Formats: sequence, C-alpha cells, structure tokens
Amino acid sequence: QAKGLGRARYCVFDPDLEARALARHQIEFDLRRALGLREFVLVYQPQNSTRDGRISGFEALLRWMQPVRGPISPAEFIPLAEEIGEIHAIGAWVIRSACFEAAGWADPTLTVAVNVSPVQFENDNIIQIVSAALKDSGLAASRLEIEVTEGVLLTESPEVLERLWSLNRMGVSIAMDDFGTGYASLSYLNSFPFSKIKIDKSFVQSEHSSRSQALISAILAIGTSLGVTTIAEGVETPDQFAAIRAIGCHSVQGYYISRPMPAEDVADYISRFDPEPFLRHAEQEQIA
Ligand code: C2E
Ligand code: MG
Ligand code: MG
Ligand code: MG
Repeated sequence: QAKGLGRARYCVFDPDLEARALARHQIEFDLRRALGLREFVLVYQPQNSTRDGRISGFEALLRWMQPVRGPISPAEFIPLAEEIGEIHAIGAWVIRSACFEAAGWADPTLTVAVNVSPVQFENDNIIQIVSAALKDSGLAASRLEIEVTEGVLLTESPEVLERLWSLNRMGVSIAMDDFGTGYASLSYLNSFPFSKIKIDKSFVQSEHSSRSQALISAILAIGTSLGVTTIAEGVETPDQFAAIRAIGCHSVQGYYISRPMPAEDVADYISRFDPEPFLRHAEQEQIA
C-alpha cells in the first residue's frame, strides 16, 4: 500500500500507530485477567410482546467494568477476546451467570437470551457448558435462548451445525441475531434450527422509512413462511414502536421500552412494569 520507502518508514514510526499498538497490548493484557478479577457483569434488556406489551424475557448483555478505563462496550472487546481465545472462558461465564440470574426471577415463564460468539461453536465444549449451566442453575432449557449471528454458519462446518442441533434437541431455542446484515446466503435458513429472527436495528432506525418498512415486511414474510417469530431490535421511539406493531412483528426490544439494566434491578422492574402506557401510545399513533 505504501508507495515508497519514505512513506513506509513514516508508517513504522507513526507515533499514533505506536500508541495504538501499546493501547491494544494493554487492553489484551487486562482482558486476560478481567474474568479472574470479576470485572464482567451482565445487564438485562426486556423483550416485549407487541400484542399485549407484556415482558416475555430479557436479553443478557455483557459489560466490562474496567477499573481504569471505565465500562467498555462488548463491540470493542468481544472481537479481541475472539482473536486471543479468551472468548471461550468469558462466554462460558456469560452462559452460566445468565442461567443462574434468570433462575432467580420471580416469573418462571420469562426467557433469557444469551449472545454466543461463532468462535464458541468451534469447540465441542459448548454443549457441555450449556447443559451444565442449565442443570446447576435449575433453569428449564425452554427458558434459554441462544442468539447467534449469520457468522456462525459462514464456516459451513458440519460440526457447528450439529452443535446447534444438539442445543435444539436439549430444548434450548436459537435466535438469528442482526438478521439481514451478514454475508451468508439465505439457503442457510434450510439447515439451521432457529425459532426466532431478530430484525437488526439498522432496518428499524433507517431514515428511508418506506424502503425499510418494505424490508421489514419482507423479513416478516420469511419468518411467517418458516414458522418462526420475529423481534425488532433498537426500537427507540413511540413512532417506531407503533410502526413495528402495525406491520405485525411479534416482539420489540429497545430503549423505548427500557435501556439494559443491572441484574439487581430486574426483579423490581418485572413487578412494577405496566404495558398499558406503551399500548395506549401505539394506538394513538395508529389513529393519527
Ligand atoms: P446485539 O446482540 O445485537 O445487542 C443489541 C445491542 O443494541 C446492545 O448493545 C444493546 O445495548 C443495544 N441496544 C438496545 N436497544 C437499543 C436501542 O433502542 N437503540 C440503540 N441504538 N441500541 C440499542 P451492546 O450491549 O453494546 O452490545 C453490542 C453487541 O455486542 C451485541 O449486539 C452482541 O453482538 C455483542 N454482545 C453483547 N453481549 C455479548 C456476550 O455476552 N457475548 C458475545 N459473544 N457478544 C455479546
Ligand atoms: Mg443479541
Ligand atoms: Mg442484534
Ligand atoms: Mg449487533
């Protein structure tokens, strides 16, 4: 890429680049110790039915409470954890913690959705990790939902597919996260045992609303013809909620209902939650 030696040399001694390399090295160093130092927590975001507004479950989202740099987003450290192999230990901790926390919720019908990286499916241990988490926590398999992205199928590995089917046979459900943003072809929908499609927030929040409404309708039609449910993520405004509801999507998740909350707030949230204002507003939107 560099055109001449001068440019190449400039790149090598770029102080910015060096600072970034150092920062990465430091983050990597800290990431390898984060689990042992108990720096991870899960926050929970409700998933609600568009029909009656009630909570059907929560998605568990990982947070790294780094003491020096503050909270770090999973979008930043998950790719690094995948690269250095730490994802296996961190991911196992996520599955176990989510199962134990959900088993303590007062309402035993609520589901918990856990994000699992494609890299975790490269190892056969994933089955053992999930079954031990269910057994030890006492959480019914039917209450656990695993969110995977299309990336999990890009390897086209029969082992990965078999692991997804094993989870399915255990009674765990599988949701396709960020649907429509990956590179996999639609043919993967044939071989893959999922029961829910999560419509990515880019469709929900798009400015070009007539086109994105058409795309959302098309995704819903795919879901309907495959007999799977659909949930829209990133619903932030009453208008978006009303539109998603009117178009026939089963569930919603987003800041409009609630931001992700600490585990210790979930019980209170469940007992106080009133769907009525959300529904009333959506009905007004539809009339207007
Ligand atoms: P995701 O699974 O698609 O999760 C949804 C993301 O959208 C979350 O970001 C959530 O906080 C955010 N979000 C929710 N509602 C709204 C909204 O109304 N507006 C906007 N703008 N954003 C909203 P978060 O928590 O930063 O997580 C980012 C991604 O990191 C997740 O995307 C998921 O792919 C990954 N991730 C999170 N936790 C884990 C984990 O435990 N393991 C793995 N492997 N990946 C995780
Ligand atoms: Mg997710
Ligand atoms: Mg998503
Ligand atoms: Mg995402």
